[in-house]
Amino acid sequence: MIFINTCAIRDNAEQRVRTRLHDFKKAKRAKPSLIVGVLGCMAERLKSKLLEEEKLVDIVAGPDSYRDLINLIETVEGGNKAVNVLLSREETYADISPVRLSSNGVTAFISIMRGCDNMCSFCVVPFTRGRERSRDPESILEEAKQLFENGYREVTLLGQNVDSYLWWGGGQKKELDPDTVHKALHHQLPAEEQQRFTTFADLMEMVAGVHPDLQIRFSTSNPRDMTDAVLHVIAKYDNICKYVHLPVQSGNSNVLERMNRGYTREDYIQRIESIRRIIPECGISTDIISGFCGETEEEHRDTLSLMEWAGYDFSYMYKYSERPGTAAEKKFTDDVPEKVKSRRLQEIVDTQRNLSAIRTKRSIGKTFRVLAEGVSKKSDEMLSGRNSQNTVVVFPKANLNPAIMSM
Ligand code: SAH
Repeated sequence: MIFINTCAIRDNAEQRVRTRLHDFKKAKRAKPSLIVGVLGCMAERLKSKLLEEEKLVDIVAGPDSYRDLINLIETVEGGNKAVNVLLSREETYADISPVRLSSNGVTAFISIMRGCDNMCSFCVVPFTRGRERSRDPESILEEAKQLFENGYREVTLLGQNVDSYLWWGGGQKKELDPDTVHKALHHQLPAEEQQRFTTFADLMEMVAGVHPDLQIRFSTSNPRDMTDAVLHVIAKYDNICKYVHLPVQSGNSNVLERMNRGYTREDYIQRIESIRRIIPECGISTDIISGFCGETEEEHRDTLSLMEWAGYDFSYMYKYSERPGTAAEKKFTDDVPEKVKSRRLQEIVDTQRNLSAIRTKRSIGKTFRVLAEGVSKKSDEMLSGRNSQNTVVVFPKANLNPAIMSM
């Protein structure tokens, strides 16, 4: 059996999957009993259409149907194609452990929630991953403990929008009125009532308490939902990394409005100011999209100026890729020419390169605590890891104190 786990966030992710599928043609011809399955978001987006478009595919399984894989395989063995793209309101895979380990035996990922309710106009995630669901904090804590006992020294808590994580005894957000949800998320309920809830800030404190030697990271924060409570928890615990990934997407308020991001340039600036005030040494990174529908030259320059202002440590930068079924596809025209998108992206990349160089220069002469994740790709004599701010640090093995080596 060959299963490909897929991404649908941009068109080029899907094109890569299609190329990979074509690579399997030969294998399938040589061995007709070979089962090929497409799993994850691209499967969810295309559903049974994928079976028509890619004849060699036998199984199409969306992100909520992994428990059903055995049945799907049996269906195929019975001579039929098999599809399950049902999205669930409850599935969090809480009892399937571990969700994702890195092969280095040191760092691991824990999904704390699934889905997304934000409906950013460019984004396919709500359609491929379904509604937002938070996972039971006890099961998250248990997984973090297990990982620590198995030698892991870093966990990254994962969610599309970690700041909207909310748990109360098994209930889902839709069962509460929006005002209570808002107050609970911002720790504004009367103490007794607030106690019923676990917010992301509460969850981080719980995981930070597992062991002082278990280091914690998280992703992704949303500028609209991030609370100061979370920032105070980051500042309070030495084992929570001083690093926030805060995707801005654009530095212009009109573009942000078209993107339905729920914040303005000014709101975003305030968020960064809070981060810098509460966690002065914090590393900050972002995601940026160039050439969104209707983006003018001036709007693009607002993105560049915001980058300069924020002084990002690093950025993930993309050209806008229209996704079928999204609000942007329905409401706007993908009217920024490819050439212009590319040129703007290049300007964004160049700006970031300068900012990263400034950050590197600032580091000269400083000492950082680094969790070694493995041997450097470039030299066996060097180890590689990241500092608290998530910057990669490569350092000679020889410098290590033998006492540390044996830990
Ligand atoms: N949930 C996170 C982002 C998840 S997707 C958030 O809300 O910020 C990761 C990144 O992919 C996004 O931040 C965005 O920059 C990029 N992205 C998403 N959809 C895209 C699209 N249609 N075209 C180009 N980039 C896109």
